[in-house]
Amino acid sequence: MGLVVQKYGGSSVADADRIKAVAQRIVATRKAGNDVCVVVSAMGDTTDDLLDLAAQVAPLPPARELDMLLTSGERISMALLAMAIANLGMEAWSFTGSQAGVITDSRHGKAQIIDVTPGRIRDALDKGRITIVAGFQGVAQDTKDVTTLGRGGSDTTAVALAAALGAEVCEIYTDVDGVFTADPRIVTTARQIPKLSYEEMLEMASSGAKILHLRCVEYARRFSLPIHVRSSFSTKPGTWILDIPPEEQMEAPIISGVAHERGEAKITVVGVPDKPGEAAQIFTVVADAGINIDMIVQNVSSVATGRTDITFTLPSTELTNAMGALTKAQDQIGFESLQSDDQIGKVSLVGAGMRTHPGVTAKFLSALADAGINVEMISTSQIRISVVVREHELPAAVAALHSAFELDDTGGEATVYGGTGR
Ligand code: ADP
Ligand code: ASP
Ligand code: MG
Repeated sequence: MGLVVQKYGGSSVADADRIKAVAQRIVATRKAGNDVCVVVSAMGDTTDDLLDLAAQVAPLPPARELDMLLTSGERISMALLAMAIANLGMEAWSFTGSQAGVITDSRHGKAQIIDVTPGRIRDALDKGRITIVAGFQGVAQDTKDVTTLGRGGSDTTAVALAAALGAEVCEIYTDVDGVFTADPRIVTTARQIPKLSYEEMLEMASSGAKILHLRCVEYARRFSLPIHVRSSFSTKPGTWILDIPPEEQMEAPIISGVAHERGEAKITVVGVPDKPGEAAQIFTVVADAGINIDMIVQNVSSVATGRTDITFTLPSTELTNAMGALTKAQDQIGFESLQSDDQIGKVSLVGAGMRTHPGVTAKFLSALADAGINVEMISTSQIRISVVVREHELPAAVAALHSAFELDDTGGEATVYGGTGR
Protein backbone atom coordinates (compact mmCIF):
# COMPACT_ATOMS: atom_id res chain seq x y z
CA MET A 1 0.00 0.00 0.00
CA GLY A 2 1.42 3.39 -1.01
CA LEU A 3 1.19 6.70 0.73
CA VAL A 4 -0.18 9.60 -1.31
CA VAL A 5 -0.01 13.25 -0.25
CA GLN A 6 -2.53 15.45 -2.06
CA LYS A 7 -2.86 19.22 -1.73
CA TYR A 8 -6.03 21.05 -2.77
CA GLY A 9 -5.81 24.81 -3.33
CA GLY A 10 -8.43 27.43 -2.51
CA SER A 11 -10.35 27.29 -5.79
CA SER A 12 -10.53 23.48 -5.53
CA VAL A 13 -12.51 23.80 -2.28
CA ALA A 14 -14.23 27.12 -2.99
CA ASP A 15 -17.78 26.03 -2.07
CA ALA A 16 -19.78 23.08 -0.69
CA ASP A 17 -20.08 21.40 -4.09
CA ARG A 18 -16.34 21.63 -4.74
CA ILE A 19 -15.62 20.23 -1.27
CA LYS A 20 -17.91 17.28 -2.01
CA ALA A 21 -16.22 16.70 -5.38
CA VAL A 22 -12.77 16.73 -3.75
CA ALA A 23 -14.03 14.34 -1.05
CA GLN A 24 -15.06 11.89 -3.81
CA ARG A 25 -11.61 12.06 -5.34
CA ILE A 26 -9.91 11.46 -2.00
CA VAL A 27 -12.18 8.52 -1.18
CA ALA A 28 -11.43 6.99 -4.60
CA THR A 29 -7.69 7.26 -3.89
CA ARG A 30 -8.19 5.62 -0.48
CA LYS A 31 -10.34 2.85 -2.00
CA ALA A 32 -7.61 2.16 -4.56
CA GLY A 33 -5.57 0.97 -1.57
CA ASN A 34 -3.51 4.02 -0.67
CA ASP A 35 -2.93 5.77 2.63
CA VAL A 36 -3.98 9.35 2.04
CA CYS A 37 -2.76 12.53 3.68
CA VAL A 38 -4.48 15.64 2.34
CA VAL A 39 -3.32 19.24 2.75
CA VAL A 40 -5.97 21.85 2.20
CA SER A 41 -6.02 25.63 1.63
CA ALA A 42 -8.67 28.09 2.77
CA MET A 43 -11.86 28.18 0.67
CA GLY A 44 -11.71 30.46 -2.40
CA ASP A 45 -10.53 33.96 -1.55
CA THR A 46 -10.99 33.53 2.23
CA THR A 47 -7.42 34.55 3.05
CA ASP A 48 -7.74 37.79 1.05
CA ASP A 49 -11.11 38.49 2.67
CA LEU A 50 -9.62 37.99 6.14
CA LEU A 51 -6.75 40.34 5.26
CA ASP A 52 -9.26 42.97 4.09
CA LEU A 53 -11.18 42.55 7.31
CA ALA A 54 -8.05 42.97 9.41
CA ALA A 55 -7.15 46.15 7.50
CA GLN A 56 -10.54 47.61 8.36
CA VAL A 57 -9.90 47.06 12.06
CA ALA A 58 -6.27 48.17 12.14
CA PRO A 59 -4.00 49.56 9.40
CA LEU A 60 -0.98 47.68 10.79
CA PRO A 61 -2.30 44.61 12.63
CA PRO A 62 0.13 42.86 15.01
CA ALA A 63 1.76 39.99 13.09
CA ARG A 64 0.98 37.44 15.81
CA GLU A 65 -2.74 38.22 15.69
CA LEU A 66 -2.79 38.33 11.89
CA ASP A 67 -1.43 34.77 11.84
CA MET A 68 -4.04 33.70 14.38
CA LEU A 69 -6.72 35.15 12.08
CA LEU A 70 -5.39 33.77 8.78
CA THR A 71 -4.92 30.22 10.07
CA SER A 72 -8.65 30.08 10.77
CA GLY A 73 -9.32 29.95 6.99
CA GLU A 74 -7.67 26.56 6.64
CA ARG A 75 -9.41 25.24 9.78
CA ILE A 76 -12.78 25.84 8.13
CA SER A 77 -11.92 23.93 4.95
CA MET A 78 -10.17 21.04 6.71
CA ALA A 79 -13.15 20.36 9.00
CA LEU A 80 -15.69 20.65 6.17
CA LEU A 81 -13.64 18.31 3.99
CA ALA A 82 -13.41 15.75 6.82
CA MET A 83 -17.20 15.95 7.23
CA ALA A 84 -17.78 15.48 3.49
CA ILE A 85 -15.55 12.38 3.53
CA ALA A 86 -17.34 11.00 6.61
CA ASN A 87 -20.59 11.47 4.71
CA LEU A 88 -19.20 9.12 2.04
CA GLY A 89 -18.67 6.48 4.70
CA MET A 90 -14.94 6.84 5.35
CA GLU A 91 -13.25 8.01 8.50
CA ALA A 92 -11.33 11.26 8.12
CA TRP A 93 -9.64 13.31 10.83
CA SER A 94 -8.50 16.88 10.41
CA PHE A 95 -5.43 18.40 12.08
CA THR A 96 -4.11 21.95 12.40
CA GLY A 97 -0.52 22.56 11.29
CA SER A 98 0.56 22.47 14.91
CA GLN A 99 -1.18 19.13 15.55
CA ALA A 100 0.37 17.72 12.39
CA GLY A 101 3.86 18.56 13.72
CA VAL A 102 4.77 21.42 11.39
CA ILE A 103 7.39 23.21 13.50
CA THR A 104 8.59 26.62 12.31
CA ASP A 105 10.66 29.59 13.40
CA SER A 106 8.74 32.50 14.88
CA ARG A 107 8.75 34.93 11.93
CA HIS A 108 5.04 35.64 11.69
CA GLY A 109 3.72 35.84 8.15
CA LYS A 110 6.85 34.30 6.62
CA ALA A 111 7.81 31.47 8.97
CA GLN A 112 10.23 28.79 7.75
CA ILE A 113 9.66 25.13 8.52
CA ILE A 114 12.49 23.86 10.71
CA ASP A 115 11.15 20.39 11.55
CA VAL A 116 8.23 18.13 10.74
CA THR A 117 7.16 15.56 13.36
CA PRO A 118 4.01 13.99 11.96
CA GLY A 119 3.51 11.44 14.76
CA ARG A 120 -0.23 12.03 15.03
CA ILE A 121 -0.67 11.80 11.25
CA ARG A 122 1.26 8.50 11.12
CA ASP A 123 -0.86 7.19 13.96
CA ALA A 124 -4.13 8.13 12.31
CA LEU A 125 -2.99 6.67 8.97
CA ASP A 126 -2.01 3.43 10.73
CA LYS A 127 -5.55 3.27 12.12
CA GLY A 128 -6.89 3.45 8.56
CA ARG A 129 -8.05 7.06 8.72
CA ILE A 130 -7.77 9.63 5.95
CA THR A 131 -5.85 12.59 7.38
CA ILE A 132 -6.56 16.21 6.47
CA VAL A 133 -4.02 18.87 7.42
CA ALA A 134 -4.51 22.63 7.42
CA GLY A 135 -2.01 24.12 4.98
CA PHE A 136 0.21 27.20 5.27
CA GLN A 137 0.58 27.10 9.05
CA GLY A 138 2.70 25.74 11.84
CA VAL A 139 3.75 26.38 15.40
CA ALA A 140 6.88 28.28 16.42
CA GLN A 141 9.42 26.11 18.20
CA ASP A 142 10.44 28.82 20.68
CA THR A 143 7.31 30.92 21.33
CA LYS A 144 4.75 28.11 20.74
CA ASP A 145 2.67 30.65 18.82
CA VAL A 146 0.75 29.84 15.64
CA THR A 147 2.60 30.96 12.49
CA THR A 148 1.92 31.16 8.76
CA LEU A 149 4.37 30.34 5.97
CA GLY A 150 3.55 33.21 3.60
CA ARG A 151 0.99 33.47 0.80
CA GLY A 152 0.65 30.27 -1.20
CA GLY A 153 2.38 28.33 1.59
CA SER A 154 0.06 25.30 1.58
CA ASP A 155 2.13 23.88 -1.28
CA THR A 156 5.11 23.89 1.06
CA THR A 157 3.14 22.22 3.87
CA ALA A 158 2.25 19.42 1.43
CA VAL A 159 5.79 18.83 0.21
CA ALA A 160 7.20 18.99 3.76
CA LEU A 161 4.69 16.39 4.96
CA ALA A 162 5.26 14.22 1.89
CA ALA A 163 9.01 14.24 2.61
CA ALA A 164 8.56 13.55 6.34
CA LEU A 165 6.09 10.71 5.73
CA GLY A 166 8.21 9.18 2.96
CA ALA A 167 5.58 9.58 0.21
CA GLU A 168 6.68 8.78 -3.33
CA VAL A 169 5.03 11.82 -4.86
CA CYS A 170 3.28 14.99 -3.77
CA GLU A 171 0.21 15.80 -5.85
CA ILE A 172 -0.73 19.49 -6.04
CA TYR A 173 -4.32 19.93 -7.22
CA THR A 174 -5.26 23.34 -8.58
CA ASP A 175 -7.52 25.15 -11.07
CA VAL A 176 -5.44 24.62 -14.24
CA ASP A 177 -4.11 21.43 -15.86
CA GLY A 178 -0.52 21.91 -14.71
CA VAL A 179 2.36 24.29 -15.30
CA PHE A 180 2.02 26.20 -18.58
CA THR A 181 4.48 28.18 -20.71
CA ALA A 182 2.84 31.33 -19.26
CA ASP A 183 -0.04 32.10 -16.92
CA PRO A 184 -3.08 30.83 -18.89
CA ARG A 185 -5.12 33.70 -17.43
CA ILE A 186 -2.93 36.09 -19.45
CA VAL A 187 -1.91 34.01 -22.46
CA THR A 188 -4.81 31.82 -23.62
CA THR A 189 -2.52 30.06 -26.09
CA ALA A 190 -0.12 28.97 -23.33
CA ARG A 191 0.97 25.35 -23.66
CA GLN A 192 0.99 22.80 -20.85
CA ILE A 193 4.49 21.53 -19.98
CA PRO A 194 4.61 17.74 -19.35
CA LYS A 195 7.75 17.84 -17.24
CA LEU A 196 10.16 20.36 -15.80
CA SER A 197 13.39 20.14 -13.80
CA TYR A 198 13.44 21.50 -10.24
CA GLU A 199 15.90 24.13 -11.43
CA GLU A 200 13.57 25.49 -14.12
CA MET A 201 10.55 25.39 -11.82
CA LEU A 202 12.54 27.25 -9.15
CA GLU A 203 13.30 30.04 -11.61
CA MET A 204 9.66 30.15 -12.78
CA ALA A 205 8.35 30.26 -9.19
CA SER A 206 10.87 32.86 -8.06
CA SER A 207 9.96 34.96 -11.10
CA GLY A 208 6.31 35.11 -10.06
CA ALA A 209 4.63 32.00 -11.55
CA LYS A 210 2.42 31.49 -8.49
CA ILE A 211 1.27 28.04 -9.60
CA LEU A 212 3.77 26.69 -7.02
CA HIS A 213 5.14 28.29 -3.86
CA LEU A 214 8.88 28.85 -4.30
CA ARG A 215 9.83 27.16 -1.04
CA CYS A 216 7.84 24.05 -1.91
CA VAL A 217 10.04 23.57 -4.99
CA GLU A 218 13.22 24.15 -2.97
CA TYR A 219 12.04 21.64 -0.39
CA ALA A 220 11.13 19.03 -3.03
CA ARG A 221 14.51 19.42 -4.72
CA ARG A 222 16.34 18.93 -1.42
CA PHE A 223 14.51 15.62 -0.87
CA SER A 224 14.36 14.63 -4.59
CA LEU A 225 10.60 14.35 -4.13
CA PRO A 226 8.64 14.45 -7.42
CA ILE A 227 5.73 16.93 -7.56
CA HIS A 228 2.75 16.30 -9.84
CA VAL A 229 0.82 19.54 -10.50
CA ARG A 230 -2.65 18.84 -11.90
CA SER A 231 -6.26 19.97 -11.96
CA SER A 232 -8.84 18.94 -9.37
CA PHE A 233 -11.48 19.68 -12.03
CA SER A 234 -10.27 17.08 -14.57
CA THR A 235 -8.51 13.72 -14.64
CA LYS A 236 -5.87 14.77 -17.17
CA PRO A 237 -2.24 14.08 -16.33
CA GLY A 238 -0.52 17.28 -15.20
CA THR A 239 3.06 18.52 -15.01
CA TRP A 240 5.82 16.54 -13.28
CA ILE A 241 8.57 18.45 -11.50
CA LEU A 242 11.54 16.16 -10.94
CA ASP A 243 15.23 15.48 -11.49
CA ILE A 244 15.83 15.28 -15.23
CA PRO A 245 18.93 13.24 -16.15
CA PRO A 246 21.56 15.14 -18.22
CA GLU A 247 21.03 13.03 -21.35
CA GLU A 248 17.32 13.93 -21.37
CA GLN A 249 18.05 17.60 -20.71
CA MET A 250 19.78 17.79 -24.09
CA GLU A 251 16.45 17.16 -25.81
CA ALA A 252 14.45 19.53 -23.62
CA PRO A 253 13.13 22.72 -25.20
CA ILE A 254 15.50 25.71 -24.97
CA ILE A 255 12.88 27.89 -23.32
CA SER A 256 10.44 26.57 -20.73
CA GLY A 257 8.27 29.61 -20.24
CA VAL A 258 7.51 33.22 -19.44
CA ALA A 259 6.69 34.31 -15.88
CA HIS A 260 5.46 37.62 -14.57
CA GLU A 261 5.28 39.35 -11.21
CA ARG A 262 3.04 42.26 -10.27
CA GLY A 263 3.75 42.59 -6.59
CA GLU A 264 7.08 44.40 -6.77
CA ALA A 265 8.18 47.98 -6.19
CA LYS A 266 11.45 49.83 -6.69
CA ILE A 267 13.38 52.25 -4.54
CA THR A 268 16.06 54.60 -5.86
CA VAL A 269 18.59 55.87 -3.36
CA VAL A 270 19.68 59.17 -4.92
CA GLY A 271 23.09 60.77 -4.46
CA VAL A 272 24.99 58.01 -2.69
CA PRO A 273 28.66 58.97 -2.05
CA ASP A 274 30.70 56.81 -4.47
CA LYS A 275 33.08 55.20 -2.00
CA PRO A 276 33.66 51.71 -0.60
CA GLY A 277 31.11 50.50 1.93
CA GLU A 278 28.16 52.70 0.90
CA ALA A 279 26.17 49.99 -0.91
CA ALA A 280 26.97 47.59 1.92
CA GLN A 281 25.46 50.04 4.42
CA ILE A 282 22.29 50.49 2.35
CA PHE A 283 21.67 46.79 1.96
CA THR A 284 22.54 46.06 5.59
CA VAL A 285 19.80 48.47 6.65
CA VAL A 286 17.35 46.77 4.29
CA ALA A 287 18.37 43.25 5.40
CA ASP A 288 18.11 44.22 9.08
CA ALA A 289 14.50 45.20 8.38
CA GLY A 290 13.95 41.57 7.26
CA ILE A 291 13.43 42.46 3.60
CA ASN A 292 14.53 40.32 0.66
CA ILE A 293 15.53 42.38 -2.34
CA ASP A 294 15.55 41.26 -5.96
CA MET A 295 17.27 43.28 -8.71
CA ILE A 296 19.90 45.97 -8.12
CA VAL A 297 21.23 48.59 -10.53
CA GLN A 298 23.96 51.10 -9.70
CA ASN A 299 24.53 53.98 -12.09
CA VAL A 300 27.94 55.31 -13.07
CA SER A 301 28.76 58.19 -10.74
CA SER A 302 29.10 61.62 -12.19
CA VAL A 303 32.67 62.91 -11.89
CA ALA A 304 31.45 66.35 -10.85
CA THR A 305 29.56 65.20 -7.76
CA GLY A 306 31.31 61.93 -6.87
CA ARG A 307 27.84 60.57 -6.17
CA THR A 308 25.78 57.80 -7.73
CA ASP A 309 22.21 56.43 -7.66
CA ILE A 310 21.34 52.88 -6.60
CA THR A 311 17.99 51.34 -7.55
CA PHE A 312 16.66 48.04 -6.25
CA THR A 313 13.38 46.11 -6.36
CA LEU A 314 11.57 44.49 -3.46
CA PRO A 315 8.11 43.07 -2.68
CA SER A 316 5.65 46.01 -2.69
CA THR A 317 4.31 44.82 0.68
CA GLU A 318 7.72 45.76 2.14
CA LEU A 319 7.92 49.22 0.54
CA THR A 320 6.77 51.24 3.57
CA ASN A 321 9.00 49.21 5.86
CA ALA A 322 12.09 49.72 3.63
CA MET A 323 11.46 53.45 3.08
CA GLY A 324 11.12 53.91 6.84
CA ALA A 325 14.32 52.01 7.63
CA LEU A 326 16.35 53.88 4.98
CA THR A 327 15.00 57.31 5.99
CA LYS A 328 16.07 56.60 9.55
CA ALA A 329 19.60 55.77 8.33
CA GLN A 330 19.88 58.70 5.88
CA ASP A 331 22.34 60.81 7.91
CA GLN A 332 24.53 57.86 8.74
CA ILE A 333 24.71 56.63 5.10
CA GLY A 334 24.84 60.14 3.64
CA PHE A 335 22.62 59.79 0.55
CA GLU A 336 20.61 62.78 -0.74
CA SER A 337 17.07 61.47 -1.13
CA LEU A 338 14.82 58.46 -1.78
CA GLN A 339 12.35 57.79 -4.59
CA SER A 340 9.85 54.94 -4.71
CA ASP A 341 7.63 53.49 -7.42
CA ASP A 342 5.11 50.66 -7.01
CA GLN A 343 3.69 50.78 -10.55
CA ILE A 344 6.23 48.32 -11.92
CA GLY A 345 6.00 44.75 -13.17
CA LYS A 346 8.64 42.13 -13.84
CA VAL A 347 8.64 39.76 -16.79
CA SER A 348 11.06 36.83 -17.05
CA LEU A 349 12.00 34.23 -19.62
CA VAL A 350 13.19 30.89 -18.19
CA GLY A 351 14.91 28.00 -19.94
CA ALA A 352 17.83 25.69 -19.21
CA GLY A 353 18.82 25.83 -22.89
CA MET A 354 19.80 29.50 -22.52
CA ARG A 355 23.13 28.38 -21.11
CA THR A 356 24.25 27.03 -24.46
CA HIS A 357 22.27 29.09 -26.96
CA PRO A 358 23.57 32.55 -27.79
CA GLY A 359 21.25 35.34 -28.87
CA VAL A 360 18.40 34.75 -26.43
CA THR A 361 18.88 38.14 -24.73
CA ALA A 362 18.99 39.96 -28.07
CA LYS A 363 15.79 38.25 -29.22
CA PHE A 364 14.15 38.98 -25.85
CA LEU A 365 14.92 42.70 -26.00
CA SER A 366 13.96 42.96 -29.68
CA ALA A 367 10.56 41.37 -28.96
CA LEU A 368 9.86 43.99 -26.28
CA ALA A 369 11.13 46.80 -28.48
CA ASP A 370 8.87 45.67 -31.35
CA ALA A 371 5.93 45.78 -28.93
CA GLY A 372 6.91 49.35 -27.97
CA ILE A 373 7.70 48.39 -24.37
CA ASN A 374 10.41 50.27 -22.49
CA VAL A 375 12.79 48.26 -20.27
CA GLU A 376 13.71 49.91 -16.94
CA MET A 377 16.00 47.32 -15.33
CA ILE A 378 17.56 44.03 -16.46
CA SER A 379 18.91 41.07 -14.52
CA THR A 380 19.94 37.61 -15.60
CA SER A 381 20.90 34.22 -14.21
CA GLN A 382 22.33 31.34 -16.23
CA ILE A 383 18.85 30.20 -17.18
CA ARG A 384 16.72 33.35 -16.82
CA ILE A 385 16.39 36.90 -18.16
CA SER A 386 14.20 39.34 -16.19
CA VAL A 387 13.28 42.94 -16.89
CA VAL A 388 11.25 45.59 -15.11
CA VAL A 389 8.57 47.35 -17.17
CA ARG A 390 5.56 49.56 -16.36
CA GLU A 391 2.94 47.43 -14.62
CA HIS A 392 0.18 48.22 -17.12
CA GLU A 393 2.42 46.92 -19.94
CA LEU A 394 2.97 43.56 -18.28
CA PRO A 395 0.31 41.51 -20.15
CA ALA A 396 1.55 42.86 -23.51
CA ALA A 397 5.15 42.08 -22.56
CA VAL A 398 4.28 38.49 -21.56
CA ALA A 399 2.35 37.93 -24.80
CA ALA A 400 5.12 39.45 -26.97
CA LEU A 401 7.78 37.20 -25.46
CA HIS A 402 5.56 34.13 -25.57
CA SER A 403 5.05 34.60 -29.33
CA ALA A 404 8.62 35.62 -30.12
CA PHE A 405 9.94 32.41 -28.57
CA GLU A 406 7.31 30.35 -30.39
CA LEU A 407 5.67 29.03 -27.26
CA ASP A 408 2.07 29.48 -28.46
CA ASP A 409 -0.07 26.35 -28.68
CA THR A 410 -1.74 26.17 -32.04
CA GLY A 411 -3.94 23.25 -30.93
CA GLY A 412 -6.40 25.09 -28.69
CA GLU A 413 -6.91 27.27 -25.67
CA ALA A 414 -5.68 26.57 -22.15
CA THR A 415 -8.49 25.86 -19.69
CA VAL A 416 -8.84 27.80 -16.46
CA TYR A 417 -11.42 25.86 -14.42
CA GLY A 418 -11.95 28.14 -11.45
CA GLY A 419 -10.51 30.75 -9.15
CA THR A 420 -10.51 34.49 -9.51
CA GLY A 421 -6.78 34.84 -10.11
CA ARG A 422 -6.67 37.13 -7.07
P1 ADP B 1 -4.26 27.28 -5.68
O1 ADP B 1 -5.36 28.07 -5.04
O2 ADP B 1 -4.70 25.97 -6.21
O3 ADP B 1 -3.02 27.21 -4.85
P2 ADP B 1 -3.03 29.40 -7.21
O4 ADP B 1 -3.97 30.49 -7.57
O5 ADP B 1 -2.08 29.62 -6.10
O6 ADP B 1 -3.90 28.10 -6.99
O7 ADP B 1 -2.17 28.95 -8.49
C1 ADP B 1 -2.82 28.60 -9.68
C2 ADP B 1 -2.80 29.77 -10.64
O8 ADP B 1 -1.46 30.05 -10.99
C3 ADP B 1 -3.48 29.52 -11.95
O9 ADP B 1 -4.87 29.72 -11.88
C4 ADP B 1 -2.78 30.52 -12.88
O10 ADP B 1 -3.55 31.69 -13.06
C5 ADP B 1 -1.51 30.89 -12.13
N1 ADP B 1 -0.27 30.71 -12.92
C6 ADP B 1 0.72 31.62 -13.01
N2 ADP B 1 1.70 31.18 -13.81
C7 ADP B 1 1.32 29.96 -14.24
C8 ADP B 1 1.91 28.99 -15.12
N3 ADP B 1 3.10 29.19 -15.69
N4 ADP B 1 1.25 27.83 -15.34
C9 ADP B 1 0.04 27.62 -14.76
N5 ADP B 1 -0.57 28.49 -13.94
C10 ADP B 1 0.05 29.65 -13.67
N1 ASP C 1 -4.67 30.27 2.02
C1 ASP C 1 -3.31 30.73 1.89
C2 ASP C 1 -3.21 31.80 0.82
O1 ASP C 1 -4.21 32.17 0.22
C3 ASP C 1 -2.34 29.62 1.64
C4 ASP C 1 -2.50 28.89 0.34
O2 ASP C 1 -3.55 28.98 -0.29
O3 ASP C 1 -1.56 28.19 -0.04
O4 ASP C 1 -2.14 32.30 0.58
MG1 MG D 1 -1.29 28.43 -4.56
